[in-house]
Amino acid sequence: MTFSIHGLPVARGIAIGRAVLVASSRVDVAHYFIEPDQIKAEIERLRVARNAVIDELQRLQATMPRDAPPELAAMLDVHLMLLQDEALAYEIRRWIKERLYNAEWALVSQLEVLVRQFDEMEDPYLRERKADLEQVVERVLLHMKGAATPVAAPPPRPARQHELGLGDTQDVPLVLVAHDLSPADMLQFKKSVFAGFVTDVGGKTSHTAIVARSMDIPAVVGARSASHLVRQDDWVIIDGDAGVMIVDPSPIILAEYGFKQRQGELERGRLARLKNTPAVTLDGQRVELLANIEQPADTALALGVGAVGVGLFRSEFLFMGREGKLPDEEEQYAAYRAAVEGMMGLPVTIRTIDIGADKPLDDRRADTHLNPALGLRAIRWSLAEPAMFLTQLRAILRAAAHGRVHLLVPMLAHASEIRQTLEMIDKARAQLDQRGQVHGPVTLGAMIEVPAAALSLRLFLRHFDFLSVGTNDLIQYTLAIDRADESVAHLYDQLHPAVLRLLADTIAEGARQGKPVSVCGEMAGDPTMTRLLLGLGLRSFSMHPSQILAVKQEILRADTDKLTAWAQSVLDSDEPAALLAV
Ligand code: PEP
Ligand code: MG
Repeated sequence: MTFSIHGLPVARGIAIGRAVLVASSRVDVAHYFIEPDQIKAEIERLRVARNAVIDELQRLQATMPRDAPPELAAMLDVHLMLLQDEALAYEIRRWIKERLYNAEWALVSQLEVLVRQFDEMEDPYLRERKADLEQVVERVLLHMKGAATPVAAPPPRPARQHELGLGDTQDVPLVLVAHDLSPADMLQFKKSVFAGFVTDVGGKTSHTAIVARSMDIPAVVGARSASHLVRQDDWVIIDGDAGVMIVDPSPIILAEYGFKQRQGELERGRLARLKNTPAVTLDGQRVELLANIEQPADTALALGVGAVGVGLFRSEFLFMGREGKLPDEEEQYAAYRAAVEGMMGLPVTIRTIDIGADKPLDDRRADTHLNPALGLRAIRWSLAEPAMFLTQLRAILRAAAHGRVHLLVPMLAHASEIRQTLEMIDKARAQLDQRGQVHGPVTLGAMIEVPAAALSLRLFLRHFDFLSVGTNDLIQYTLAIDRADESVAHLYDQLHPAVLRLLADTIAEGARQGKPVSVCGEMAGDPTMTRLLLGLGLRSFSMHPSQILAVKQEILRADTDKLTAWAQSVLDSDEPAALLAV
């Protein structure tokens, strides 16, 4: 039966394919595809872990005191029975053999199937066995953790659709459906072949959504119970423009969306022709279109759409999901240098690490503070970890010897933070001199993403060569709306008069003092915002490569002479959204 689930649109376009469910589990589980020649080893890994848990439970059973509660003995019996159930083990192996899922994914996929069956049971005793099953799976997962192969895995090639058991056609697209995905997980899936994805939770500018947007595939977040309602292999349509997922579509609906999809592809083809067209408005204003990247390899995407530089390299992605083992100076230097060389002489803006809030260093160690977004995040974290910060600064300064580098500092708000940051940069340079190591010049920029910073522009412009407005956080902190929380997503308003005022003042103050101001938040890559930003005087936009051509098209059609007066009226309005709609 066809039904639809509504969420928040993240990345545009239509995807039609079979659902691949990334199961939710209390233990964080890596999901990746293995190669066919790894099947045996993967099954063996599972067997070893299962046997280890059986041994552990049998030891417990043997050493149980006589006066132990009888429920405990009964529970151990049930757990051992589940572990030794051959039919269950067979089904788990099938996920590995037929789908090429890694062992952990296979385990939680089967868990998900059984949990649904338990939930449908009438008998309360049997229903409660669900908890036993979950505990057993968790134990096995914990045993496998140490022995897990890295998450990075080769993507399934299209020809693998057969091996994945997804029907006769060679190219059935796969759509990822998950409760939640961390930004680090998302980055892994970036290397994969998913045609679209949906998550139950998340806001439009959460970092998971941002990475998804960089994958340039239709995506919906905040779809509430999608991962419960959709089943493995269901046919689904993702409408990334409307933020809707349609499950089990009828032939008429499929045909309609197939048509929409082809229209979208034609539009992309048209936009691709703009790659080498200079971004100049009708009245001759030159606009700089820069790329946001998460890893050095993204520079190829940036050049592919004609970006004239990188406006934001989110360096924290080098640090995430490494279970506490941070990249050393050499590894960082190699990554920054690769990005600089990848841009072939065009400038690269490297932002110092912005870890914390919805970008945890390690998914397994979630921030337990009540308000992580207001806590030890970004520059606050860097200043609290001076050795780590100096290592990063040295690596960036060394990479600057290979090309044009701008160094950007996130989340600054206080004069003392600015002073300390500048001192650290001087110190990093002095350390390199002392070692006799080559380094290059950098221009220094500050992100304006805390309202306090937007209200202290003179302080910032005194110390920095340029500013970059992080509208994602500026909106979050101005409106007190968690950008990653779908339950308040309707209040996350990029057109709130207070947000526009802070943005307009930053652009104007930069222009007055002759210092470049860029916007690198998601707003810069939203083509419905381009005219307004141009009208407010913005001439430098940084966004995901996938958005650059659509924004360029808006620029080519714009006349800033006319837009300036209109932008002032939007700024003066109590309800700017109404003026933008016309
Ligand atoms: C922003 O806040 O707008 C920004 C670009 O930084 P991030 O999204 O990484 O927090
Ligand atoms: Mg930010």
